[in-house]
Amino acid sequence: MPGNPFTLHSSVLFDPKKKAFVKNVSIKIDRESGAIVDVFTRDGDGEDSLVLADGDIDLRGKVVLPGFVDSHTHVFLYSYKERPAGEQMRDESAVERIVRATNHVRAALLAGYTTYRDLGTEALGAADANLRDCINRGLTPGPRLFVATDALASSGSYELRRENKLGPGGPLIVPIASDVADGVDGVRAAVRRRIGDGADVLKFYADYRRKVMRFPPPGTTSSRAIRFPPARPNPAVPNYTQREMNAIVEEAKLAEIPVAAHAGETRAALMAARAGVTTIEHIFEDTDQILDQLFKEMKVSGSIWVPTLATAEDLAAPMFQAAKVAVKKAYDAGVRLAAGGDTGTFDHGLNVREMEIMVDAGIPIEDVLEAGTVAGWEACGGDQSGFRFGWFEKGNRADVIALDTDPRRDRKALRKVSFVMKDGQVWKRDGVAAASMITAPTWPSSEDESDDSVSDEWTDLSGAKPRMAMSVPLPVYGGARGSGAKTWS
Ligand SMILES: [Zn+2]
Repeated sequence: MPGNPFTLHSSVLFDPKKKAFVKNVSIKIDRESGAIVDVFTRDGDGEDSLVLADGDIDLRGKVVLPGFVDSHTHVFLYSYKERPAGEQMRDESAVERIVRATNHVRAALLAGYTTYRDLGTEALGAADANLRDCINRGLTPGPRLFVATDALASSGSYELRRENKLGPGGPLIVPIASDVADGVDGVRAAVRRRIGDGADVLKFYADYRRKVMRFPPPGTTSSRAIRFPPARPNPAVPNYTQREMNAIVEEAKLAEIPVAAHAGETRAALMAARAGVTTIEHIFEDTDQILDQLFKEMKVSGSIWVPTLATAEDLAAPMFQAAKVAVKKAYDAGVRLAAGGDTGTFDHGLNVREMEIMVDAGIPIEDVLEAGTVAGWEACGGDQSGFRFGWFEKGNRADVIALDTDPRRDRKALRKVSFVMKDGQVWKRDGVAAASMITAPTWPSSEDESDDSVSDEWTDLSGAKPRMAMSVPLPVYGGARGSGAKTWS
């Protein structure tokens, strides 16, 4: 049969478009194209006699959802509690960071994340685009990556800091952590550079704590603290003028890619919304008390908020409670939300923590799951991404996951992903990672065992598929998340 189709059967399935759990839905999938070819509801009668065809998958008794989308990740980073970001960027070899990233994306896939919106390599240039291509070529398993390569930042705003600038060999050279661009023409050129490097999404730092060298905190450049610092030694201040932000968005629109704006404060977030960005990341502080005005502007511009609550819980505890309250307020005001944890500042594989916190904040589970699926697709640019995913419909990518328990009753249900399919390919079943995570070469089938001579095919291994490391270190929820977090184990 063309396409070699098979059918997946569910008893309970979450439909993010309806924001409802529906019963007895089956999904027909084309193995060759990895796409959904049909979605239909069984009448439910005679379920006991449902006949499974060869290759069909029975997920009845589980809760079936579209694969999750994490809208804010960094594949080359791991928990800052294990090692601070600056050290990861400055000291680790590119090889180590890339090897780690291949483990990170596997852990994410096994946790039910079939799509990642990866917002910056943090000093590895456009290596995220290369990793994306490796996954897309089938060389290593992982979520579908949409990458930013380097984020844009104005001069002196987002960089690795050093105090030693006087050595006889010149100042200490550190890796570049952003694509530095200033002025309307400068930022236009930078957006064009990002497109040329393969970016799927444009990210810029709308603000940053860029006055850090006035009162450097201990641990960054010195072990010794500044005595008598001011109350706000280093607030997040805008990096760009309104005209520059407008130019970034205009230029990205020409190339038909979405724009993500990092904003720590509401002030820069408001400027980014006015520029018409696709998403605004973080927004942890509202020093100017303009949250309501910001929400109104975001509804006008259609900008989606990716609040990254999980990283706030982990690394910015003093701001966490206020951020949670603000997110619920945004939800009530009708601001569109997408779930993205800033995953990588804590370990990949623990991604669902973001959605758990959104539930804790008082947002209904149905809306949270929508923020982790359809809104994620929109954050990736929607149809501009080139694909449809995040809900079940003919033509969409066949990204399907299943939970062992019902998230309407079990607040840890999202951690219990026992089945993962991406593009019609199964990566986890009955809680076990697929053997095909390890791609071993196979002997040519034409080989005649009785022939002692060694053929060219045997010795030429250039076409062989790579052997993959068998042990993927997977993170665990619980105490490992550090003292700032509540105990969730
Ligand atoms: Zn980030």
